[in-house]
Amino acid sequence: MKIEIIKCLQDNYSYMIIDEKTQIACVVDPSEAAPIINFLNGKKITLKYILNTHHHFDHIGGNIELKKKYNSEVVGFKGDRDRIPKIDTLLDDNQIWKRDNFEAKIYHIPGHTKGHIAFHFFNEKKIFTGDTLFSLGCGRIFEGTYNQMFSSLNRIKKLPGNTEIYCGHEYTLKNSDFCLANDSENTKLKEKIIKIKEKIKNNLPTLPTILSDELECNIFLKAKDVKSFSKLRDLKDNF
Ligand code: ZN
Ligand code: FE
Repeated sequence: MKIEIIKCLQDNYSYMIIDEKTQIACVVDPSEAAPIINFLNGKKITLKYILNTHHHFDHIGGNIELKKKYNSEVVGFKGDRDRIPKIDTLLDDNQIWKRDNFEAKIYHIPGHTKGHIAFHFFNEKKIFTGDTLFSLGCGRIFEGTYNQMFSSLNRIKKLPGNTEIYCGHEYTLKNSDFCLANDSENTKLKEKIIKIKEKIKNNLPTLPTILSDELECNIFLKAKDVKSFSKLRDLKDNF
């Protein structure tokens, strides 16, 4: 299984998950159709599945056009059936989604939105976290509660440390300022920031990140309880 990172809109990432044996692919959160079509042009890849982490326009914007062009199956959370355009397959919390050679566990992780999910490709140790967990940050709480977001992040924290995390946006550098401001003695964080700046300088994505790094460097994952988490989230909103 190979992952290609496709830049969309201002700072979004869509991810093409390609099974190299069959050349069948899934796209995660196509913000817009054009960059996805450009990527597929001239390749013998079949875009069979569109996987949506949540209903925000910058994660579903390409659904209609891509489904029309490639006859792909749109896959998303059952609770968002009325908000995800052209949804075909309705997913539930803790369900295993299995098609062709793809196998992912679904985590319902509300907070950013009520129906946010993550796709965990557990065999390959890769998780697509949309706008819930970012590198060195987490999503804004729009529809859910602090409690929900805190427990959603806690579910991700329990995965194996070497899990690769694919997030919905390139927010890493901006997030690192906030982590550093609140955790200025963290040498591991400072080392990570050097690597992040190197990547940005070379116009490379800072993603995926590794869960073990995030556990040590991401101030939101270091919060011991929902009270301190909420305080951090509020501070970040005004940072
Ligand atoms: Zn969002
Ligand atoms: Fe987003």
